[in-house]
Amino acid sequence: MSIKSEGRGLYIGRFQPPHLGHIYTLKNILKEVNEVIIGIGSAQISHTFDNPFTAGERILMLKAALEDEGIDMSKVYLIPIPDIEMNYVWVRYVTLLVPPFSVVYTNNPLVKRLFIEAGFKVKTPPLFNREVYSGKIIRQRMINGEPWEHLVPKAVVKIIYEINGVERLREITKSDEVRC
Ligand code: ATP
Ligand code: MG
Repeated sequence: MSIKSEGRGLYIGRFQPPHLGHIYTLKNILKEVNEVIIGIGSAQISHTFDNPFTAGERILMLKAALEDEGIDMSKVYLIPIPDIEMNYVWVRYVTLLVPPFSVVYTNNPLVKRLFIEAGFKVKTPPLFNREVYSGKIIRQRMINGEPWEHLVPKAVVKIIYEINGVERLREITKSDEVRC
């Protein structure tokens, strides 16, 4: 692969945690492009309800899950992207951090809008069982004590168990304030 953008796709998400919807989409992306860049957004955030896992943990989860799928990891770049909270210049900032790419894959309306305004080709892959394959729903299930393991790759379950991820999520979403 050259340093040219052709044949390389960018897929951006927070992956909190990676779930079967993400894996389904990534497998489809790799049918269309030779290499995929996975941008791990909000990379600086961890230990919150929206972002319980560190960028490093998310990298491990994605790598293990993709390896289990038999995906050639020499075709995958896993790149943390911290937030800058300046949407107007965000696309330019992303291009500083990742290798050149010719197409962006996203279902996130803001991400789509920003890349289109910047002149990039954007594709919106079909959502796969979005009612259940959703980071927010999976995190809420963890807090509620409902089954969540069937919604994420086995490798992700293993890592979340190893880092006591469910306990972390439950602890950090408790409150020390009095109810009034
Ligand atoms: P959260 O609820 O925390 O926002 P999420 O499930 O939307 O989590 P993200 O990491 O925000 O996951 O999403 C990364 C990308 O994956 C986005 O483009 C998002 O629209 C897409 N995506 C999310 N769920 C699915 C799904 N079930 N099938 C296909 N793509 C999905
Ligand atoms: Mg999302």
